Amino acid sequence: MVARFDPAKARVFIIDSYHFDFQREQIDVEMYVRTAAEARANCIRLGAYNHYGYAIYPSKVAPVAPGCNLDYVREFVEVGKKYGVSIIGYINAGMDAVGPAARGEFLALDEQGNPRRWGAVGDDPDWSTYFMCPNNPGWLDYVRQITDEVMERGVVGTYFDETIEPRCFCPICRQKYRERFGKEMPPSSDWNQAEFWEDPVQASEYLTFRCETLLEFRQALVKHTHQNNPDALAMINCGGFLQTYCGGVGTSPEETVEFIPDMDGLLTEAQIRCSGQPIWHASENALFADHLPFRPWVHVEYGAGGWPFSSVSQAELIVKTGMLVARGARPALFNYHLRNPRGMEGVKKAFSLVADNEDILENTKSVAEVAVVFHRPTARLYGRDKITERYEWCFRGMHHALASCHTCFDVLYPRIPELDKLKNFRLIVLPSVAILSDAEQEAIRHYVREGGNLLVTGEIATHDSLGNLIGNSGLSDVLGCHITGRAEHTITIASGGFRPYAHCYAHVLDRHPALSGFEVGDYIPLSAWLLDVELTTGKSLASTIRPPDHPPMVGLGPEVSFPSILLNQFGEGRVVYLPSLPGRVYFEYELPDVLMLISSIVRWLLDGKPTVQLEAPCTVEMSLRWQEHKERYILHLIDWSGSLKTLGDSGPITVSGIVRLPERFQVADVGTLDGKPVSWNQRDDGSIQFEVPVNKWQALVFQTG
Ligand SMILES: [Zn+2]
Repeated sequence: MVARFDPAKARVFIIDSYHFDFQREQIDVEMYVRTAAEARANCIRLGAYNHYGYAIYPSKVAPVAPGCNLDYVREFVEVGKKYGVSIIGYINAGMDAVGPAARGEFLALDEQGNPRRWGAVGDDPDWSTYFMCPNNPGWLDYVRQITDEVMERGVVGTYFDETIEPRCFCPICRQKYRERFGKEMPPSSDWNQAEFWEDPVQASEYLTFRCETLLEFRQALVKHTHQNNPDALAMINCGGFLQTYCGGVGTSPEETVEFIPDMDGLLTEAQIRCSGQPIWHASENALFADHLPFRPWVHVEYGAGGWPFSSVSQAELIVKTGMLVARGARPALFNYHLRNPRGMEGVKKAFSLVADNEDILENTKSVAEVAVVFHRPTARLYGRDKITERYEWCFRGMHHALASCHTCFDVLYPRIPELDKLKNFRLIVLPSVAILSDAEQEAIRHYVREGGNLLVTGEIATHDSLGNLIGNSGLSDVLGCHITGRAEHTITIASGGFRPYAHCYAHVLDRHPALSGFEVGDYIPLSAWLLDVELTTGKSLASTIRPPDHPPMVGLGPEVSFPSILLNQFGEGRVVYLPSLPGRVYFEYELPDVLMLISSIVRWLLDGKPTVQLEAPCTVEMSLRWQEHKERYILHLIDWSGSLKTLGDSGPITVSGIVRLPERFQVADVGTLDGKPVSWNQRDDGSIQFEVPVNKWQALVFQTG
């Protein structure tokens, strides 16, 4: 019987089997485990069976990795016991290159009946691996046998990777599709192509088929793990919530959890370095953590961006660890150089901050007054072949802007839930939520009528449930306007190879507290994609400047009467509508005027009294969490300003602010994550004023008497 390991308190080192070259070196298992333990990791996810179909133990069913002459899974488990490090067995469940699949029994086939290949180095078939069919019972049986072998070696659980649906067109899949929909599979399966969406009903059915296939496959693996050992953990790599992180199209983390309620955990990716993304992306998948029944694992770092035998700075590791943990996720360090003492110093600092503070991190829930809606049906069926540009960038830019202007916000997800949940928030942000069911529209209408506030951008309830354009918004009464048209406005300058100029602006007409910081006559950058609107009950604060219609001259274009910033009072609530894509502009360009616009509107809609008001650069992110069983609030502050590129400690900044906790909560003491003193006092209105040093990641713990 293996001991139950708590994945909600995991600090994970991920060691893929690729990290070892068994033919060149003797693997010093003790060194690996000891290094992990010394850096305060309590779990190693070990690559037991990899993408090429090799095991790193003497398997009876799979080939053993070249040069591997030891039972490394058992070895890691045994040494792990000595150091208090639990081992989770990683099993690639979707690919094979050298096992039985190489003989073609379980291969996934493309539309033409050819094997789907992955991971080829050039055209060398020796360095290719192949997708397997998740609908093939033989492949499932094979993965079950591997699972039994890995579990027999005493791991605390299984972790299944590559549980994907590789757009398989094998006879088994074709037959299953016929039985499910009474028709043949569609000729094209690539949803990134416009042709795929020509028949939206067919596209939607095909996506349903993929989703169901995956969920059933994942469920079978979780079930098998628990049948083998009811105490073992069964975890799945769910990619991510966003397509950007390989998620959301086949199926999504939330659909997986709903379908397999007894799974024990999942991992989502955060490929900052290896996909060249800026640092703020680290928290993107963790944003959704509170919507899962367990603490998801998220990558802190991914092999130093393609150099797994190098390291990143300790500042970067602390920032990214803090970002994940502050959102309720758990840190997992992927294929990192464990033999580099310079790099491990930072890991130890980051993981120690977590390990030494588990009591303030456990069982906490986000406290937020603002919610930004992520809408899965809109992402899939409105986003279609351009999910990232049409939908995700709008959402992600809004997340980035809300974080940069120090807002306590949650993601509302996957569908706008029952009315009770909306009421928990003072402000709901809806970026490009093009598809809303009648029930969802009615819930929003009711929320605003009763005093809730909205910030709406871009399309809103303008498309039907299959993503086809209707035209006007189903919520036009709430917006105070009709949507009468939409178009992209750009001009291309003949020289220089620049991107087309958007050249669209909001021209400020009126001084208003929602536009604090802007003057009458100011120009605020707008996206090239604009919606035409006609006012009904709404009020316009800005007209629209569009690009000149006679390039190549690049003067300020003509002013048109369509409003670009609208206010509406609806019942007791207030609505600000921006019929453009400010989130997308901020995602792509981080223009300060756009941040100032969003910041000013949010502040106005919160009556100038947010729960937490920070005096800090926009590179300080925060989250406020409530720990019910200890009755305390925890305010996380993460500073990613300054250089994250030097290995040494780059030093703290000072952050001050005001926290408005509920009146019944009497603060008796304020502690910190790193034990550094904080100066604080309670003001006459009951709010707490504080000043604290933040060295990349800090947390304030507000204790009651
Ligand atoms: Zn198949």
